[in-house]
Amino acid sequence: MLGPVILAASRSGSLRRAVSAAPVTKPVVDRFIAGESVEETTPVVRSMAARGLEVTLDVLGEDVTDPAEALRARDAYLRLVEALEPLDLGPRAEMSVKLSSFGQALPGGHDLALKNVTAVVEAADAIGTTVTLDMEDHTTVDSTLAIHAEVRRDYPLTGAVVQSYLFRTEDDCRALADAGARVRLVKGAYKEPASVAYQDKADVDKAYIRSLRILMEGAGYPMVGTHDPRIVAIAQDLAYRAGRKPDAYEFQMLYGIREAEQARLAAEGHRVRVYIAYGTDWYGYFMRRLAERPANLAFFLRSVVSR
Ligand code: FAD
Repeated sequence: MLGPVILAASRSGSLRRAVSAAPVTKPVVDRFIAGESVEETTPVVRSMAARGLEVTLDVLGEDVTDPAEALRARDAYLRLVEALEPLDLGPRAEMSVKLSSFGQALPGGHDLALKNVTAVVEAADAIGTTVTLDMEDHTTVDSTLAIHAEVRRDYPLTGAVVQSYLFRTEDDCRALADAGARVRLVKGAYKEPASVAYQDKADVDKAYIRSLRILMEGAGYPMVGTHDPRIVAIAQDLAYRAGRKPDAYEFQMLYGIREAEQARLAAEGHRVRVYIAYGTDWYGYFMRRLAERPANLAFFLRSVVSR
């Protein structure tokens, strides 16, 4: 019940200012965010790699308000590519981008976001790695999948994300699986209306499994983005039945969440990729993590009260 309230609150400017300025916030935020700069984050990438984990890096930022800001977001990713090059991890360190940070919602935003993301994908390709296009709220899905299809003409390993809470997602999975794409399947983290998305957790979970089956049986590379132990077990079973070897799909989890499970799966020989977010614009990302799990909110509130 609390999740939708927190997601609605995450759109409030005054709350953003209050939460961002509160001195207690930082230690809680640090649980989910690897650092404020690329310099603080590369040691985390190195340590993950040493533990046999792969990563996808997200430079925090979304919903820019002018093209100059979108260019700054693109440049932050280009600096990230420069920082990744000496680590020489190739596709084991890829990037995740939110097209809203590249100007997708601005006038002419589709073309602007396409141009900005293409520059990042090109730079990533030059160091032997890939980019995945995160999925944001449902109003952006058509544009994001169209940009994904356009970028894939030259860079076929560019990844897409689909959210099982949306009614349309099984159809999107069929199309993407037929096209042989890298596809991350998640439950979905935004507040969506009942006209487009399942509202009950049980329905979202069932839809996840239906979509996962389509991806596992298809021609693409499924990226199972979840911390849900039941779905992790079902994914292993579906992969086995589809004749997929452990290197023909991967698990993805967020930095700071179920780390023991990440280590366990990697030790079992699975590919596990950790989604690492860094930067100063952490508010939206942080609020979505609070909304996913009431216990996180309780932890946050306890740290406020205990001061
Ligand atoms: P849930 O049923 O929510 O959780 C299962 C269990 O996982 C919980 O019981 C708990 O033990 C643990 N858990 C889950 N969330 C948390 C948390 N925040 N803190 C602590 N423990 C937790 N969403 C999008 O809309 N677009 C994206 O592009 C996107 N990319 C993602 C990339 C990755 C790699 C991952 C893992 C998630 C991404 N998400 C994205 C978020 C996703 O949509 C879900 O909101 C999130 O993963 C929680 O769902 P769950 O599958 O983990 O299952």
